[in-house]
Amino acid sequence: MNLDNNGDSDIPSFAQNRLGSLVIDENLLTKKISQLGREITQDYLGRKILLVGVLKGAAYFMSDISRQISLPLQMDYMAVASYGTATKSSGVVRIVKDLDLDLSDKHVLIIEDIVDSGLTLSYLQKYLYAKHPLSVETCCLLVKTGNQKVDLDIKYIGFEITNEFVVGYGLDYNEIYRNLKSIYKLNLD
Ligand code: 5GP
Repeated sequence: MNLDNNGDSDIPSFAQNRLGSLVIDENLLTKKISQLGREITQDYLGRKILLVGVLKGAAYFMSDISRQISLPLQMDYMAVASYGTATKSSGVVRIVKDLDLDLSDKHVLIIEDIVDSGLTLSYLQKYLYAKHPLSVETCCLLVKTGNQKVDLDIKYIGFEITNEFVVGYGLDYNEIYRNLKSIYKLNLD
């Protein structure tokens, strides 16, 4: 069996020359996600919950956290395109895929991968509020400390990280690196 690993790290060979240091490894991700799942389970006992995953970055997070929440729940997905460069969003958001489900009798929990300026999430929160669900809260895996340009209410946060561009566990650079099991800094030069 070829595991496609060079040397002693878990980084597949295709990614080795572009990745910087490890930021969050697979085990820590698993632990944190199960902790968040327990918290959400407690907080939403007896309520109808709809998880809204934001594609594509939150695909693995949505899949993993949904299985750590011990409640009957519904899942839906949105896809947004944010104008900007490969590493900076502009906050001007276009909805590429809208929700399939009606929100009127649901408690919505947005499942987001990463918040940098916060402009994308702020737009999404307002967009979902405007559909009049019973509540809207957010669970975000990563937040870049101090980078937010808007005030945001994020109820569940996985990890606060420094201001560096990261990839893996769903996060991409030009659509590559999403399938890495851990999260790494990317060497941008
Ligand atoms: P914001 O609107 O908060 O500035 O940017 C949010 C979006 O930009 C995220 O949903 C994600 O798609 C992208 N983004 C921000 N920082 C990073 C990062 O460090 N790595 C990756 N892969 N995407 C990021």
